[in-house]
Amino acid sequence: MSETQRAIGVIPARREVTMLSHPAPRLTGEHQVLIRTLEVGVCGTDREICTFAYGTPPAGDAHLVLGHECLGEVLEVGRAVTRLRPGDLVVPSVRRPCPHPRCAPCRAGRQDFCATGDFSERGIKEAHGFMTEAFVEDEGFLYRAPPELRELAVLVEPLTVAEKGLAQAYRVQERLPWVAAEAPAERRGEGKTALVLGAGPVGSLGAMLLLEHGFRTFVYSRSPAPNPKAALVEACGARYLSSEVVSPEALARETGPIDLVYEAVGVASISFAVMRLLAPNAVFVFTGIPPVLPAIPVEADTLMRQLTLANQAVIGTVNADAPAFEAALRDLMRFRQRWPEAMARLISGRHAPERYRELLLGRAQGIKQVIRFA
Ligand code: BGC
Repeated sequence: MSETQRAIGVIPARREVTMLSHPAPRLTGEHQVLIRTLEVGVCGTDREICTFAYGTPPAGDAHLVLGHECLGEVLEVGRAVTRLRPGDLVVPSVRRPCPHPRCAPCRAGRQDFCATGDFSERGIKEAHGFMTEAFVEDEGFLYRAPPELRELAVLVEPLTVAEKGLAQAYRVQERLPWVAAEAPAERRGEGKTALVLGAGPVGSLGAMLLLEHGFRTFVYSRSPAPNPKAALVEACGARYLSSEVVSPEALARETGPIDLVYEAVGVASISFAVMRLLAPNAVFVFTGIPPVLPAIPVEADTLMRQLTLANQAVIGTVNADAPAFEAALRDLMRFRQRWPEAMARLISGRHAPERYRELLLGRAQGIKQVIRFA
């Protein structure tokens, strides 16, 4: 193998998005795994890093290799690796723990709740990502994907956001003894209404998960139907409504009181307008990371009254834990059986790495674009 490999990355100090020459990886520890990159999904976070809104190279490097939604194939394993073998398909997680002994979440393996902010994230913050030919990762941060998911496992990481979000919402609802008594968790949506904000990959995968859990599911997104995103979620059994056609007030007439809002669009105005539609004891889950924009008016008193008097919970959730990765792998297999055509349509295109400029800097097109490395 040569000493360097191609990688797609940014050089923030020069505001450059470029094809880089990056050191080829080698195993240096016995728990490590050498992985050939097969596919990497392009997400809104990657596109924002390319505007230099955030994204930090590792200490000592001027560049940051992009990419955190990855499917790879194991090439070589360290001596102490027990769960993986060459040829296995693997999905890496994104976040790595901070080093501080006092950070209880990181020390408990729950860096998704890191309390110091000194975590790193591959392809995002102080750690190189996966948009390169090969990489090394510790076995503990890798999840094996079954061969049947070869064409879909690049969607595992975006689905983990919904898996963690829904798991967190259920944990919140354990405050309601009659809900906690209900088993199994997968049927907790029965008789309940969920609203997904946004019909991008995180929104549509979230809608599929809510449908799978039995919720009557609505998806509220900007573009008027017909459009490919609307067609996809409707093919799965959700109802799509456009915010350009249906105002939040009119939406309430369609949905009735909403038990769970899963926000996956990163737009504050629409999120706070929809908060008014929550049912008593409902949960609103934020996953979007909006850019910081000029302040907008919010009916804060009305919302505060409502949240208090109706026992509602608003939570934010970021990143994902190990059970979310395992659940995402299991649920992708279910989605594939239940909605084979919709799943195939979620990936709008697979592209050569040379097309990185239009994918990262051009107008966002389709649902999920994927860069194919092998
Ligand atoms: C990724 C998460 C990450 C978050 C914040 C998202 O795009 O999916 O893993 O924690 O960005 O950086």
